[in-house]
Amino acid sequence: MSELLARHRAVMPSWLALYYDEPVEITGGKGVRLTDADGNTYLDFFAGILTNMLGYDVAEVREAVERQIATGVVHTSTLYLLRGQVELAEKIARLSGIPDAKVFFTNSGTEANETALLLATCARGSDQVLAMRNSYHGRSYGTVAVTGNRGWKNSALSPLNVHYLHGTDRDAAAFRGMSDDRYIDACVADLRDVLATATAREVACLIAEPVQGVGGFTMPPPGLFAAYKEVLDEEGVLFVSDEVQTGWGRTGTGFWGISEHGVAPDAITFAKGLGNGFAVGGVVARGDLMDGLTANGVSTFGGNPVAMAAANATLDYVLDHDLQANAARLGPIVLDGLRPLTGLAAVGAVRGKGLMYAVDMVDPGTGAPSPQLASAVLEAARRRGLLIGKGGLRGNVLRAAPPLTVGEADVREARDILVDAVTEVDAQAR
Ligand code: PLP
Repeated sequence: MSELLARHRAVMPSWLALYYDEPVEITGGKGVRLTDADGNTYLDFFAGILTNMLGYDVAEVREAVERQIATGVVHTSTLYLLRGQVELAEKIARLSGIPDAKVFFTNSGTEANETALLLATCARGSDQVLAMRNSYHGRSYGTVAVTGNRGWKNSALSPLNVHYLHGTDRDAAAFRGMSDDRYIDACVADLRDVLATATAREVACLIAEPVQGVGGFTMPPPGLFAAYKEVLDEEGVLFVSDEVQTGWGRTGTGFWGISEHGVAPDAITFAKGLGNGFAVGGVVARGDLMDGLTANGVSTFGGNPVAMAAANATLDYVLDHDLQANAARLGPIVLDGLRPLTGLAAVGAVRGKGLMYAVDMVDPGTGAPSPQLASAVLEAARRRGLLIGKGGLRGNVLRAAPPLTVGEADVREARDILVDAVTEVDAQAR
């Protein structure tokens, strides 16, 4: 064990996730490549868990942040007018597609979702919330409550009355083999059933990720959320789209993950990529919902000038360079290369959308999800110079999501490394 790892283990929580048998200490980054303390370089296809949306050491972001720091004002709280904050809010409100939208900035996705839950439960005067099975929404009390993934749930106690919907578990026996349309019908029937049987009136909201991130990049069929929304609207239930992983063009099918479903949510939560590594999150919601809170509020650091400088520069870059189009163009190159992996006994499925793609690792004998094989592929990819992620309810899903600025050569290189790593692990597992 390295000296730093021993010190980490001594003072940091045992549950704090660390990748790799020999965890990596990152010491530098440029573009889509990282360097570690031993001088190894890697293609980074997890991008700081989808935070480094433009990659590392991006001049436009660095210079914007340096300009802000040079003013002497790193932070003054949001008790004063902050130009960068207003400008960013205007852009996000416009991009949200939500009528009369207003924006509140936080420091993380967890706080963003906590705020959205507060808006919805206050607006509806109800602690009843719908969430999706297999979801992940954060690590606070309220967001753990709406998380439908046992691996991330620490508490059986809940401040909310949560009911979980189908909609992302297409491999479950009841849904296997269904066409998209039949699956959507079955999920809508499930929603109606939950509303009619398990809830009292005045359900506050449904919170859902358009593509589940931590859940293993599960991809509901396009149109599912529009079908849900019709039912939700009948009862005035609000819809919160958690875009912490899927926002800003990542899926290639629209600016938000929800875009391809053809429905406007009542609120969108965001974080991760917006600051290109600087901590910034927030909620954009219908103005009446946002203004519906009755108590004063402030987030001490939320919307601070440095984060806003980073976020404005990042968002401008995304729009100026049409990175959504880049995700749409490069996604199929990866996916087409990965698809043949489904012929291997240790691979259960391959899927992707834009610059998010996943490979499910299974036991070659039983077909059961295999977190061990997923970890083995992570190690094998790392040895070949590629960093990716893993996830999924059972920990068996390999996840890749590079910076949106990635080029075609890097995408091909990473795809080929991943194919080699999976093939090697499959051969060893037989
Ligand atoms: N929502 C989603 C969809 C996420 O993937 C995450 C983090 O992975 C969160 C919320 C929580 O964000 P944060 O870790 O910034 O609190």
